[in-house]
Amino acid sequence: MGKPLMRIPYTDPFAHPTIIPSSARTLEGAVAALHSFFTSPVPSGLPTSTVVLSGAGLSVASGLADYRGTNGTYRVNKTYRPIYYNEFLGNHEARKRYWARSFLGWSTLHKAQPNAGHYAVRDLAQLGLVSSVVTQNVDSFHPTADPNTPTVELHGYLRSTVCTSCHEEFPRDSFQNELARLNPIWAAFLRDAIASGALDTEDPQEKRARGIRMNPDGDVDVPDAPYTTFRYPACPRCLSDPPALAGGTRSLVEIDHDGALIPTSTAGILKPAVVMFGESIRSEVKEAAEGAIEGAGRLLVLATSLATYSAWRLAKKARDLAMPIAIVNLGGVRGEDAFFAHLDPRQLGSEGVRVEMSSESLLPALVKELRRSGLRGEGFPSAGAPFDRGDPAVFRDMLS
Ligand SMILES: [Zn+2]
Repeated sequence: MGKPLMRIPYTDPFAHPTIIPSSARTLEGAVAALHSFFTSPVPSGLPTSTVVLSGAGLSVASGLADYRGTNGTYRVNKTYRPIYYNEFLGNHEARKRYWARSFLGWSTLHKAQPNAGHYAVRDLAQLGLVSSVVTQNVDSFHPTADPNTPTVELHGYLRSTVCTSCHEEFPRDSFQNELARLNPIWAAFLRDAIASGALDTEDPQEKRARGIRMNPDGDVDVPDAPYTTFRYPACPRCLSDPPALAGGTRSLVEIDHDGALIPTSTAGILKPAVVMFGESIRSEVKEAAEGAIEGAGRLLVLATSLATYSAWRLAKKARDLAMPIAIVNLGGVRGEDAFFAHLDPRQLGSEGVRVEMSSESLLPALVKELRRSGLRGEGFPSAGAPFDRGDPAVFRDMLS
C-alpha cells in the first residue's frame, strides 16, 4: 500500500455536537470541565501531560480564513480549488498562477500575529500541563507564541520555500522580494492594494469596491499583467550546481537575463514548505506527531473539525491508547461520537470534554482559573489551594 496522500477534506459542515458534560454550555461550566480534565489523574500507565492538536479555527481570530467556519474558504468561495502537488511540479503555468496568488496573499499572512488562543496554549505549557503541540496550521503561530514547547507542524509551514530537487529550504521573505523584483507591475499593484485595504477583506464585492477586480475563479485580475506573465526564481543552490537526475545525467537549471526560471529547466523548482494536496507527509514528521501523542496522557483538540485524515488518525490513536480527550471547536468534528461513547454520563470532565466555544475566549479564562486555583508551573495544584468554584467575581472578570 502506498503512503496516504493529502486529500481535499470534506467541505460540508459536520452536525452539531453533544456538549460534555452538559454543564459545559456556559463559559463557567466549560472552564470547570477543562479544569477537571487537566487536574484529574490519567488512566494508569499513561504520562500525566497533555498534547494539543490544533487546526485552522485557532487562527481565525488572527485574521486568517479557516475552511468550514461561517466565513471559511469553502463557504465564501464555492469554486475554490487548491493546487495539487503533481500539477505544481509538472506545470509551469500552474506555478505562475500559484506564485502570483501567493505573492498577493503573503502580506496578509506576514502581518498577522498569534492571538489569545495561541498564548493560552503557551501558558498551559508554562503551567506544566501541555508537553507538546501538533498543529495542522501552516502559519507558524504556535512556535512564534511559544518557541520553547515542542511543536510538530503536520502540514508544513509557509515561512519557507523548499527546493523540489535538492530539498534545501529558503526564507519566504527573501523569495517575496525576488518575486517583487521579477514582477514590477504586480509589485506596484500590491502596493496600491495594500494602501486601499483591498487585501484586508475576503469579500469579492468589497474587494471590487476598493479597486480590485476578480475573475470567475476567484483570482485577482491585474490590469496589463495576466498570470501568464508572472515570473519566479530558481533554487539558487541547484542553479550553481545542477543536481544529477535519476539516470545519472546532469539536470538543466536555466534562468533568463533577470534570473527568472525558464520552463525547460529539469530541476531547481521551489515550492512552499507546506504539504500540498496529493503530496504525502514526510515520514519523520508523521513519526514526530505520533510520538507527541504517545508521549502524553491526554489530548486537547483545538479549533479543528479533524476533516483531514492525517489529523483524525492522531485523535483516533489517542482514543485507542485510552487517553481522555477534550475537544474545543465551533461546529461538529469528524466521527466525534466515537471519542466519547465510552464516558461515564456522570463524569464532569476527567474522562472527556466537548465544548462548542472559541479557543481564544475559553482558554485564557481557563488559564486564569488554573492559576487562581494554585497551579504555578509545577503541573499539579499545590496543597492548601483547592479549586473553589464559589467565587462569581472570577467569572465576571472572565466575561468582561
Ligand atoms: Zn535546489
